[in-house]
Amino acid sequence: MILIVDDNPDNIYSLQKLLESKNFKVHAAQSGEEALKKILKYNYALIILDVQMPDMDGFEVAENIAGFSKTKETPIIFLSAVNTDKRFITKGYDSGGLDYVTKPVDPDILMLKVKTFYRLYEQTQALKDIQQTLEREVERRKEAQKELRSKVDYLHTLLESLPQIAFTCDNRGNIDFVNGRWFQFSDNECIFPQTHPDDRSIAAELQESLESGKPLEMEVRIKKRDETVYSYQLLRVWPILENGENNWVGTFTDIDSQKKAEKEKDEFLSIASHELKTPLTSIKAYMQLLDRKLNLDKACAEAKYVDRVQDQVEKLNSLITDLLDISKIDNGKLIINKKMFSLERMIQSAIDSIVQTHDQSNMILLRQGDISNLMVYGDEIRLEQVLVNFLTNAYKYAAGTEKIIVDCNVMDDFVKVSVVDFGIGIPESKQSEVFDKFYRVEETSFDFQGLGIGLYICSEIIRSHQGTIGVESSEGKGATFYFTLPLNIPTDAK
Ligand code: ADP
Repeated sequence: MILIVDDNPDNIYSLQKLLESKNFKVHAAQSGEEALKKILKYNYALIILDVQMPDMDGFEVAENIAGFSKTKETPIIFLSAVNTDKRFITKGYDSGGLDYVTKPVDPDILMLKVKTFYRLYEQTQALKDIQQTLEREVERRKEAQKELRSKVDYLHTLLESLPQIAFTCDNRGNIDFVNGRWFQFSDNECIFPQTHPDDRSIAAELQESLESGKPLEMEVRIKKRDETVYSYQLLRVWPILENGENNWVGTFTDIDSQKKAEKEKDEFLSIASHELKTPLTSIKAYMQLLDRKLNLDKACAEAKYVDRVQDQVEKLNSLITDLLDISKIDNGKLIINKKMFSLERMIQSAIDSIVQTHDQSNMILLRQGDISNLMVYGDEIRLEQVLVNFLTNAYKYAAGTEKIIVDCNVMDDFVKVSVVDFGIGIPESKQSEVFDKFYRVEETSFDFQGLGIGLYICSEIIRSHQGTIGVESSEGKGATFYFTLPLNIPTDAK
């Protein structure tokens, strides 16, 4: 917008028409006072100012304009009929004008000047906008940096107060902070504590995590700088997304006493189950001898008692076998003998033995999914143990329902065996834990006997076959336990 200031309405009229014909928006003022009021109210790109005016002349108006911070840079073109004298022209420039045009005005020349000033004004405005945006950005970054620094300080204070060894590192694995406890185990803040020669290297494991972006969790033995014995620590390193890049926070938690207690418990279980197994095998053998020797009538009470004793001995036997399996798994001694076998034959054998031991049950066992002729590679006895376990659980946790289904599905490169029941089911939040050692769903643990080890053994057996194990269930509606086995059998096994 352009402001024309002239006490002569005719001059304003002709100049206004000229500028409007070139698409400029124009305001007009007939006195210096009116001009100043408008200047304060509006933003003008250019002011065309008549010098000769009554009351306040053009130079005074210009001086006033230069005094306001809002307007001090607005360009002014003075128009004057009289003051062609060099002295007056100089005064015009001194009072803040940028150009000086004497009357009579040559419209073409005036338009050229107006256009130039207007373009200059627009460019200055654009530059100012850019500068303001830049200033705002610098401010924002400063604020963000301040905030980040205070967050980092907070994190470091927090890590310092932990009872664990703690550190942070960047995405390339460069350690940038360690807490005080670190120095009990390492004398250098850039080097991880020394690990036991049999343990995996922390730096190598961490590198893998950094590359994959996934948290690291590993048990590792490290030793204090002035000691020779190593202690077990749980190392966890977690990514924290900051400004689009991962930074990592790591802690070592002392789990040495926990590990020792676990080892002692495993040793006890191993010894106890071995010791229990020997007399139990004798009891089993003598009971069979007694049964044969007495040759009792099946209907008589004594025969029923003998049967019950044999049932209970069998249960005890399977409990002790499970406990022995656990100690074998813990010691890495669970032996898996793999060879090719017919999966259907294994399934039938599991069904036969489970039906025999549950002959009192009214539940129907249905077999679905044809896999005849399908040969798989694995330990037939151990896999049957898994299926028998699933089926035993189905009879136990779905007692009183109508049926149990054993289903098989062959996919591209694996086969899936499922046991479907319609019993109590498992709450979703507990499903991932049922395969943990000694885990039992708390809500139902009082109603059903068990040790919570069957599914753990199953998962270990399936793991050693490179298969997957899982459960799908909705509480109160039943559960489907399944395992898969890969079908890409090694060539030397065919
Ligand atoms: P156990 O049955 O001896 O307790 P398992 O390891 O076989 O031990 O099972 C672990 C837990 O999983 C059980 O205690 C039970 O809570 C739950 N569970 C297993 N199978 C089923 C099933 N078919 N339906 C509902 N819950 C089940």
